[in-house]
Parts: sequence; structure tokens; C-alpha cells
Amino acid sequence: MTSTAFITHRDCQLHDMGSYHPESPERLTAISDHMIAQGLDSYFAYHDAPLATFQQLRRVHSAAHLERVKRASPELGIVHLDPDTAMNRHTWTAALRAAGAGVLAVDLVMAGEVQNAFCAVRPPGHHAERAVAMGFCFFNNIAVAAAHALDAHRLSRVAIVDFDVHHGNGTEDCFTGDQRVLMVSTFQHPFYPYSGTDSRAPNMLNVPLGRGADGEEFRTVVSEQWMPRLREFQPEMILISAGFDAHYEDEMGGLKLLERDYAWVTAQLTELAEECAQQRIVSMLEGGYALSALARSVVAHLRVLADF
Ligand SMILES: [Zn+2]
Repeated sequence: MTSTAFITHRDCQLHDMGSYHPESPERLTAISDHMIAQGLDSYFAYHDAPLATFQQLRRVHSAAHLERVKRASPELGIVHLDPDTAMNRHTWTAALRAAGAGVLAVDLVMAGEVQNAFCAVRPPGHHAERAVAMGFCFFNNIAVAAAHALDAHRLSRVAIVDFDVHHGNGTEDCFTGDQRVLMVSTFQHPFYPYSGTDSRAPNMLNVPLGRGADGEEFRTVVSEQWMPRLREFQPEMILISAGFDAHYEDEMGGLKLLERDYAWVTAQLTELAEECAQQRIVSMLEGGYALSALARSVVAHLRVLADF
């Protein structure tokens, strides 16, 4: 059995916020090129991302939000929703594919067709709140996937793990206080979006890292804080907001993680998934803007997921 699904769609490369925007179509090209160069491309079950349905998105987003994003969609040129977040005529479809990828990933993993799945999609999602598009994000892909696992597949406990350099404020907004979800995260602080340190919800374990924190500091947080909480929670599925912008070479942020740190944390999570979640992991691309470091980090992550 091919153990890992790789879900993407060509439409995700057509979303373009302008030639100087770091969240660029080239991010996905860099990942697939490096997979081919590393001889990894034949080890996955490839799937095209379907379009998320209105009903699937409505589990975490307000109807008004969906309507606002749809209405903003331009026929020509680029329209800004905030200074960082813009739409061209392909963005709406790309955003539906990005959210739909997570839904398909959950379905494949729940059906036992694969043990785990990686969604190489954009736009990313973890800054999108119930009613707000921000920080390059329109729909909260990981939240839509988690809600699908809970509602369509009747799981009672899912964990969301977020190691992007930015705090996943949108995911927190979707699930704060929802006891079916445990969110654990690390992020640079103080840093955009300046959230994550004031949550009192018992299902949110946000661990801020100071600028310059390296892999050793990250691993200590994961071992001493994330893993005990995750083991106590016993998730039936682990969802990963896989942002790679905490990499040393990524100038978007100021953390110093390396490929081996991403491989290490992925191994911690696959071990946990084996213990309590029937190996089920759904990982979705979030940030990561230094193209070479992004591609190497995704490959390091994939090698552990696919046990290759
Ligand atoms: Zn980020």
C-alpha cells in the first residue's frame, strides 16, 4: 500500500498576488521539483484537490464571510482584501481547492486508503478567521478539514498541530473552547499577527518562541509541553498546519529551525498517531517563503510521513 497521499491542484498555482508577493506560485513548483530531484515523486498516491462545498466551508466560516470573499473576486487584475492578502481571477477557485484538499485528505485517511496525506496547496489558511480573510489566507483549510473529520466522520477528538512561524489565529478563532479539538502551536512572538499569548481556552496550547530560537529550543517545547498534552488528549486524528517559515533561511521570520527539526517533529507525531490515532495524519502546507529551504523542509517532512 502507498502509505501517503499527495494532494494538490494546478488551480493552486494560478492564484497570484503580484510578482513581488512572497506567497507565490513558485512555492509549489519548488516543492514538486525537489521531490522529483530527490526521486521521491513515485512514492505517493497523487490526487487532484476537489472544490470545497459551501456546506463544508460553513462548518467554520460565516455565510457573510464566504459571500464577501466571493464578491471581492475580480474578473481582471488584483484586488486587495488587506495589505497582504489579494485576489486575482483564479483566487476564489484556488481557495476552494485548498480547502477541498483537506476534506479529501480526511476522507482518504478515514477510509484507510492511506495512512496519512500531505496537501501541497495555496492559498494557505491558518490566519483566516470565521469571518475574516487576512495574512495571505481566505479560508481556514486546516479548520475545514478538522470540522469535516468531526462532523462527517463523527470523530470525537482531533488535534491540530501548528509549527508555522506565525500564530494560527484563525484556527484558534474557529475552535477556541471546542473541547473536541486540542490545538498545540509554536510561533515567534512578538510577531504577526500578535496573537496567541492571551488565550485562556483550555483547548489551546500556544507556546511563543523568542526571535532567534533554534531547533533545540523548539524540540524542548515539543517534548515537554506539546507531547504530554497530546498524549493525554488521545486524538483520533492529527492535523498539521505545516508552515516552514520558521526555517533558518526564511527571512519572513526570525527562528532557526532546520530540515532535521521538521523531520524530528514529524516523527514525534507519526509515533503518536500510531499509538492512538490509527496512524491518521493530515498535513497541510501553510507558510514557507525561502523556496529552496521550503522544498527541502517539505521533503524532510514527507520522508517521515511516507516512511521513506
Ligand atoms: Zn507563516
